Amino acid sequence: MAFKGSYAGVGTVSFRDMLLKEQILRAIGDAGFEHPSEVQQNAIPFAMVGQDMIVQAKSGMGKTAVFVIATLQQIEVDPDDDGVDTLILCHSREMAFQVHKEVERLGKYVTDVNSACVFGGISVTEQKAMIEKQTPHILVGTPGRVLHFIKNRVVKIDGLKRLVLDECDDMLQGSEMRRQIQDIFKEAPKEKQVMMCSATIGARAKGICRQISQNAEEIFLDDNKLTLHGLQQHYVEIEEKDKIKKLNDLLDTLDFNQVIVFVRSTERASALDKVLQKAFFPSIALHGRLSQEERLERYRKFKEYESRILVATDLCGRGVDMERVNIVINFDMPKTSDKYLHRVGRAGRFGTKGLAVTFVCGEENKTTLQEIQDRFEMKITPLPTAITASSYKN
Ligand code: ADP
Ligand code: MG
Repeated sequence: MAFKGSYAGVGTVSFRDMLLKEQILRAIGDAGFEHPSEVQQNAIPFAMVGQDMIVQAKSGMGKTAVFVIATLQQIEVDPDDDGVDTLILCHSREMAFQVHKEVERLGKYVTDVNSACVFGGISVTEQKAMIEKQTPHILVGTPGRVLHFIKNRVVKIDGLKRLVLDECDDMLQGSEMRRQIQDIFKEAPKEKQVMMCSATIGARAKGICRQISQNAEEIFLDDNKLTLHGLQQHYVEIEEKDKIKKLNDLLDTLDFNQVIVFVRSTERASALDKVLQKAFFPSIALHGRLSQEERLERYRKFKEYESRILVATDLCGRGVDMERVNIVINFDMPKTSDKYLHRVGRAGRFGTKGLAVTFVCGEENKTTLQEIQDRFEMKITPLPTAITASSYKN
């Protein structure tokens, strides 16, 4: 059997061995999933029988499918009940959209189950009408908008069976989102399955996760196991004024399918995008200061390969799954080692090959670079003058 990359060779459980419903197995086959990843093998058997879950696993290893499959497997539709069965909360609108697509894809043969997706920045009236029409059993959304609909009784969660927090550490970190999530928990029944996941769950997040779950099955990884083995990681020491020229050189010489260039601010994202377009690079920018329609349109364009270079802020630093991305460039150094790990994980999805290049500018950046290497126990080496494309391209 051909395996797609470095996750292979661990465990021997197949999706069929998990005794999933035939409709789900068919959709898994259609999605092209041949073999469950390590985290899927370890987590699905617990999650599908209703156990609470706190799951940490590397970027790009299919954590979404863990909670989506576990949900689809368990859901029982009661035609007389118009309440939500499973609520999946995501940290960004793009992620809610993406996770909902996965629900639709893996649930396409479970035809009695409806799903819907809601998030901010889009007309409340339209979404309300959509929910009333769909009566979703699975609702995916961002906390603010979901809470709004719960408070207005557009969404009923009195009979909620499952609550999922994707990128849980991020969602529980910020005080506003944490409060919204707490409010949602207050409205939900005490007895329910809680599933949480992320590639990074630090001590503080772990504590909160434990508080909001009961006897959760916990899957944690040591920091030194988080490195993606298919991903080559290099740095370039550089002065601010030389960054654009270097980026230009890299985009000219590297063989990329798609590339994400991360910058530290919205302003820098728009500015760099303009520079690239003027130089005739097929680039678009994605950040939080665009209108919601524009944000989703650009997300879709990049996902559908209509554009090959994405200049983005940390808005896209987590969770976003663009399978053709094989190169990540940190034009600006990420602020923390967590952010670094998530950003570079946008390349090398599901064990595929990739390349990450980080611009290091000044002493502070050097310190961060060292912290990253110490924490994940790996080496980020200077970018060699020549790299063979086959080492970072499948
Ligand atoms: P994570 O949340 O762990 O970062 P995702 O759930 O976004 O990862 O999945 C990453 C990619 O891997 C997605 O494109 C998904 O469709 C794909 N994928 C998930 N499970 C499998 C599998 N068992 N076999 C092949 N591809 C998979
Ligand atoms: Mg994810």
